[in-house]
Amino acid sequence: MPIQTKVGCGFKCVYCTYPTIEGEGRFLQDPGIVANSVQKLAMSGFRDFEFVDSVFNAPPSHALALCDALAKKRLLARFQSMDVNPLFLDDDLLFAMERAGFSGMGMTVESASDPVLSGLRKGFTAAHVHKAAETVRRHNVPCLWIFMFGGPGETEETVQETLRFAEKEIRPGDAAFFTIGIRIYPGTELETIARKQGVLSLPPAEMLSPIFYTSPGVDPRRMEQQVRNSIQRHMNFMCADSLSSPYLPAFHQLGCRLGLTTPLWRHTRHIRRGLRFFGMEMQPHVDGEERNCP
Ligand code: SF4
Repeated sequence: MPIQTKVGCGFKCVYCTYPTIEGEGRFLQDPGIVANSVQKLAMSGFRDFEFVDSVFNAPPSHALALCDALAKKRLLARFQSMDVNPLFLDDDLLFAMERAGFSGMGMTVESASDPVLSGLRKGFTAAHVHKAAETVRRHNVPCLWIFMFGGPGETEETVQETLRFAEKEIRPGDAAFFTIGIRIYPGTELETIARKQGVLSLPPAEMLSPIFYTSPGVDPRRMEQQVRNSIQRHMNFMCADSLSSPYLPAFHQLGCRLGLTTPLWRHTRHIRRGLRFFGMEMQPHVDGEERNCP
């Protein structure tokens, strides 16, 4: 059951449409009201809740208050959010998430290299990403690390730096999700960057069919190979293709029957081993490879 506890985002990531759609300010729902709604839903039989805010832990005080309100309810429910920002992650928040009953979180770092984080205007640095990894390791909330390769500033070296981070800092029981290429939406700063760099000439009206940006500083095929090599070496890594696998619904059903609890990505390494055993290994490709702009 998706739950939204706030509207708006004050960050300025160059590729994102949320600040335009929801606004740059923040409307925060009262944590007590959210917890009451979750309680009603839990009592009617729902067990899994996902907080779908643009950023779950911004402002951090709101996320803390929500976790405390949920913990007080002592619900038979599991929670997750796929949008946790490393800038506001600390031990206090993770303790609160553990007490509330979080069964997973997604860390949307996108990169672990400063030139790319700066090019994407993420508002945090590689040092924040490394610190977040240390904090995550001190706790028990499973973590899905989310990366986007090919943004402004990406080079072969920055791809390697991010993959080194993923390979060294992510716990084997956690998972990493990689995408290659970033969709360009009309009206975003990424559209302006792409046009200035001369890699986008389509008018906005022709961008309804997705078109993807990759930095002119990197060879898309070489980048794909780097990511592919890393995924092959680490069974807890996956890419966009993993979600479109025709076998995924069957694995999901089998997992439920075997009593595996959500989120399913916690079991990535076991699922991949199973797929590999049956000769169904998935390979990454460049997103929207037929419509990459460079
Ligand atoms: S990517 Fe997330 S943090 Fe960045 S502007 Fe969009 S919603 Fe906000």
